Amino acid sequence: MFIGHFAMALGAKKYAPQVSLGVLFLACQLADLIWPSLVLLGVEKFAIEPGVTVMTPLDFQYYPWSHSLLALLVWAVLFALLYTALRRAGTRAAIVIGLLVLSHWLLDVLTHRPDMPVTLGDAGRIGLGLWNHPVPAIGLEVLLFAIGVWLYTQSTRALNRQGSIGFWALVVFLLLVYAANLLGPPPPSVKAVAWSAEAIWLLVAWGFWVDHNRADRAFS
Ligand SMILES: [Zn+2]
Repeated sequence: MFIGHFAMALGAKKYAPQVSLGVLFLACQLADLIWPSLVLLGVEKFAIEPGVTVMTPLDFQYYPWSHSLLALLVWAVLFALLYTALRRAGTRAAIVIGLLVLSHWLLDVLTHRPDMPVTLGDAGRIGLGLWNHPVPAIGLEVLLFAIGVWLYTQSTRALNRQGSIGFWALVVFLLLVYAANLLGPPPPSVKAVAWSAEAIWLLVAWGFWVDHNRADRAFS
């Protein structure tokens, strides 16, 4: 799942208009932002195993700190509390941020094979395995993304060219990265995957920049 996570953040803007898209990106992708660093530190583990699922060759062996339901519940509460403390935001913003962090787990459960941890232990890992069924997997993700983009454009308007071109460039870029991951050859190494996943931080920065150049439609 890639653009489906961003879809949640784009759509969430409608429900928490004062929260920057950058923060919403951080929340929806917190799991995948923590994960590559833990992999590079040797805490979490995966292997490249072409054929492990039809759509991705990544075999996620151990990633409870970034991807278990329990860990994400804790991250969700911590992130929501930290945001409200720093920005003096209301309960609604905190709830939206917390739910976005948790949405990562639910969406990953849809696509992953049964490798998604529930607790920090190895027992009871789940996954519905949509990655073995490309048509519904891609259909669902593209549909979610389209809805998210639509909701974001309904709840915000561009203040300038950066807010319009910057936004649509982000949309196209996300679609291109998604397509490249689907169509490209298996990645050369675990480290290469982890380092390229670190680039999601740049997408967070892109989200902050775009949002800064757009305004809430309700107040303008
Ligand atoms: Zn993930």
